[in-house]
Amino acid sequence: MALKGKTAVITGSNSGIGLGIAWELARAGADVVLNSFTDRDEDHAIAETIAEETGVTARYIQADMSKGDDARALIEKAGACDILVNNAGIQHVAPIPEFPVEKWDAIIAINLTSAFHTTAAALPKMRAAGWGRVVNIASAHGLTASPYKSAYIAAKHGIVGLTKTTALETAEEPITANAICPGYVLTPLVEAQIPDTMKEYGMDRETVIREVMLTRQPSKQFATVEQMGGTCVFLCSDAAAQVTGTTISVDGGWTAL
Ligand code: NAD
Repeated sequence: MALKGKTAVITGSNSGIGLGIAWELARAGADVVLNSFTDRDEDHAIAETIAEETGVTARYIQADMSKGDDARALIEKAGACDILVNNAGIQHVAPIPEFPVEKWDAIIAINLTSAFHTTAAALPKMRAAGWGRVVNIASAHGLTASPYKSAYIAAKHGIVGLTKTTALETAEEPITANAICPGYVLTPLVEAQIPDTMKEYGMDRETVIREVMLTRQPSKQFATVEQMGGTCVFLCSDAAAQVTGTTISVDGGWTAL
């Protein structure tokens, strides 16, 4: 229960990696604030389940990370914000000349600009509390590129830069900022890419996973949401107090290639 008494706000956490991180932070004792742009009973029910099973306070706050005002309002409504996890993200795949401008704008807004807004709103709270952790969920695509994901790759490289800048602006304070760079994790975001890839390559699901996705990942395995959560708990621990401004790859060796 190393994080008892801390409050963590995790953007985009009603599914996938964000939800996995919320669970692991709660298991480590942190109160958690979950978020997405929807406001369904099932979103609030997820928070209730976490609270029941871990004994922490867990709340769900609706806020649309494509809107700067919503992103800042999320941090205000959360009250305390000792740990900020910028995780909300979307993806679109298309060659640059055909890439829809509205998709570019949405990806940059949700995957990158929202983190600027939440960080701007959270740092004064961390300074007042005398402790803080910013954990940005970048990607192996924040360190490498591949074709057809221009907006996503630009946003993920951007969030690595924002992470380093946040770390330098807080370097003399008990606040750290780091980015986790996941490789492939089988979440709804990745599931959504499989049918189109099957069509494009004329492959079945298993072949797409083996021959298209996991060829980038030398471990030949998907990473898990629990592994992302465990890495986040480490970055929030005292052991990581001098770890700041860096990226931690959890990618089965992708970026070692
Ligand atoms: P996911 O689709 O399960 O999760 C994305 C989350 O963002 C969801 O909770 C969704 O509701 C939320 N979201 C989307 N639009 C939003 C908006 N406008 N406002 C608020 N929340 C919004 O996918 P995931 O794979 O868990 O992705 C989480 C993060 O991890 C993303 O930033 C993604 O880029 C990153 N990532 C994922 C992988 C992977 O292989 N799954 C790899 C590297 C990085």
